[in-house]
Parts: sequence; structure tokens; C-alpha cells
Amino acid sequence: MQTSRLKNIRNNDRLIYGRGCLSMLGDIIKDKRELNNKYVVYVIDDYFINKPLVAKLPIESNDQIHYVDVNQYEPKTEQIDNLRDTILQKSGLPAIIVGIGGGSAMDIAKATSVMLTNPGPSSDYQGLNLAKIPGVYSIGIPTVSGTGAECSTTAVLTGPIKKLGIKCDYTPFNQIVLDPDLIATVPKNQWFYTGMDTFIHDMESSSGMFYNTFSAAYGDQSIELCYDVFLREGCGQNEINDEKLMVASLFGGLSLTYSEVGVCHALSYGLSYVFGTRHGYANCLAFNHLEEYYGNAVSDFKKMVELHDIDLPQNQSENWTEDEIHRMAEISYNLPHMWHHALGPDWENKISIPQIMDLFRRM
Ligand code: NAD
Ligand code: ZN
Repeated sequence: MQTSRLKNIRNNDRLIYGRGCLSMLGDIIKDKRELNNKYVVYVIDDYFINKPLVAKLPIESNDQIHYVDVNQYEPKTEQIDNLRDTILQKSGLPAIIVGIGGGSAMDIAKATSVMLTNPGPSSDYQGLNLAKIPGVYSIGIPTVSGTGAECSTTAVLTGPIKKLGIKCDYTPFNQIVLDPDLIATVPKNQWFYTGMDTFIHDMESSSGMFYNTFSAAYGDQSIELCYDVFLREGCGQNEINDEKLMVASLFGGLSLTYSEVGVCHALSYGLSYVFGTRHGYANCLAFNHLEEYYGNAVSDFKKMVELHDIDLPQNQSENWTEDEIHRMAEISYNLPHMWHHALGPDWENKISIPQIMDLFRRM
């Protein structure tokens, strides 16, 4: 591995995994509750309003619950700033922040944890190691599996000028609670789109110049689990596969931590920025047309789409203007770390904005 790629990564401090482990949350937070103003903030995907999960949480009278609607748009810097201000105005600095949901709710919790202690707008912290003050103790509880947000070092935000994560030592959750029971209700299309985020993370991680033994160890196992969940005999949404998908997501995230995403994510970011297309779905739209970069993985992906009867529309680009395609290509091109990983240090000689526009026209 090149020394320039060495990273001293901060991981989750603690992890609990297994069916029913959500019931341990009360014990997990008991001591930490004494920090700061001695209360807990729950950031919960609003899918769970009036669902049994909330009654299982160890909520006390002075705790705050903030339900987040993640369907309108992906997490925004402005949304984080408003949430931070609301929390602080109401009760001052909390002891703990708990994020419960898919990648969106978890990223909102991760970003808010950092922004509760670091001054100014969160858009100032989009980038690498820009936050200097440790955040509030954070706990992540995934209810959709695939993004790897539970373990990643970034909280992805769309800001006034870019979609880029707050990526620093204080971003990863201190504790994660991986309870496969919690993903049982995810609708099939969503299960697939977010699950494929992991599959694509693994494929991108492994097909670029920053791939290494650490990434391979996690990534190879994650790929095996994805094939069990999505393609092999016995595949589909069931208890065993939920357990596997939850671990695949974690391992896919860990594989990426020491490698990088590639062409598919660069295109996906363009789609999300210009049209607000959801991350997992945008990845699927792009990956479907990337045989020349990801070979057999794309033919396997197509088989999985068919096997599970997933909605994946074609010819989307017929509805896009040249200006929109150009804007998406610019956003994609301006992710040099992804192109560098996928195509090598001389990536600028191998891909251009007109060529990226052609990739978008295939979709
Ligand atoms: P999501 O969090 O956007 O949720 C998708 C849908 O599933 C929503 O409608 C939500 O209400 C619903 N939902 C959540 N849990 C459910 C459950 N148990 N049952 C039924 N419905 C449920 O989806 P996602 O794909 O997990 O996350 C996408 C987000 O993650 C994007 O904002 C993307 O940028 C981010 N992301 C972050 C990282 C990272 O490393 N931080 C990596 C990849 C993606
Ligand atoms: Zn992703």
C-alpha cells in the first residue's frame, strides 16, 4: 500500500449484534446519561411513528424525540443546523444522541452529534477533518441495511454547493446496535436498492487502485453474503438473510473505509445532486450500465433485479435536458478521489466531461 494512503481510522468504539439486542439499549446508555445536561436525543425515521419500536426505547421524561422525514430529500446541511439549534435551545447540550433509521436518519444523527459542539454552519465542515471538537456521544441503530453508514467515518450531507460528507474522527458512532429484527419491514424495492449499495460498495472497493488486503478481507465476505441474500438458492427477504444483510452492510462499509468508491458512486452523486435521486436507487440506475467497469458483477446485478422483480426504469435520460446532463457530469467529474481510485492517477487522461455525459445518456 502506498504510504500516502495510510489512514489512522477511528472506528465505532462498541458494537452489539443479534436479534433482539435493541432491548439492551437501556443498559448501554445508563452511565452515559450522566454526561452534559443528562438527557438523550432520539433522531428517529418518521416511518416509526406509532410503530412498536418506539415503545421499546428506554425514553425518559426529559429526553427529546425528533422524527425525521427522509423521503422528501436526502440530509441537508440546513436541516442539521436547524435541528442542532432546536435541541440546544430547548435543553442545552445532551448527553447522548441516538440515530434510528436507514442511512439518512443515521447520517442526520452523526452530523448533529458533531454540530452540537462545533460552532457555525455544518456546510463549513463538509470535507476531511474540519471539525476540531469531539461531538456528543452517539449511538447508531440501523433499520435499513446497505449503506454502511452505521460504521463509516462520514455523514453525507447536501449543502449549498456540494454533496459531501462531514468526515472526521468524531463522525463515526461511538456505539452501534445491530438488531436484524429491525429491518424486517423494509419494502422490497427499498430492501434491494439499499442492499445493492453494499454490493456496489464491495465491487467498487475491489476494482480500483486503493484496494488492499484489509479491504479485501471485509469486502470478499460482504460479497459472499450479498450473493446469499440476493442471488443464491434461498435468497430473498427472510430472517436468516436479514441477519446476513446487516453484516454485509457493516463489512462493506469497513471495506470502503480503507479503499474507495468508484465510477458508479461518482455518477450516482451527480443524479442525487441534480435530481435529488435517492442514493441506493441512483446507484442501481447507474450500475445497470457499467459493464465495462464492473464486468460480471453487472450481469449478476441484472439477474438479481429480474429475480426479485425490482422496479428499475430504463431510458430515463430521454427526459433529461443537455444542461441537466452536463451539470450531473460536472458534479461527477469533481469527485477526483473516486476517479483516481477507479481509473488510476492519470484518470484525467481517461475520462472527460463529454464521456461522463455519454455514461448518463445510457441511463
Ligand atoms: P433511507 O434512510 O433514506 O430510508 C429509505 C426509506 O426506508 C425511507 O422511506 C424510510 O422511511 C424507510 N424505512 C427506514 N427503516 C424502515 C423499516 N425498518 N421499515 C420500513 N421502512 C423503513 O435509506 P438508505 O438507503 O438506508 O439511506 C440513504 C442515505 O444514506 C442517503 O442520504 C445517502 O447519502 C446516505 N449514505 C450514507 C453513507 C455513509 O457512509 N454515511 C453511505 C451510503 C449512503
Ligand atoms: Zn453508497
